[in-house]
Amino acid sequence: MITLCAWCKRIRTKDGRWESADEEHSNTIFTHGICPDCLKEQDPQLYGEMLGNDEEDS
Ligand SMILES: [Zn+2]
Repeated sequence: MITLCAWCKRIRTKDGRWESADEEHSNTIFTHGICPDCLKEQDPQLYGEMLGNDEEDS
């Protein structure tokens, strides 16, 4: 399965990069997810938590 970003429609490659989907993947089963760029836009707090950079202590 390949993870497809539901926002920008990019797919995550095996080496962890996010690239534009192309027709070569038409036979692939996609699971919908979100790429880091879109997560940062949609939910900056969760993005920080996923990166483990949540150093806000207040
Ligand atoms: Zn995205």
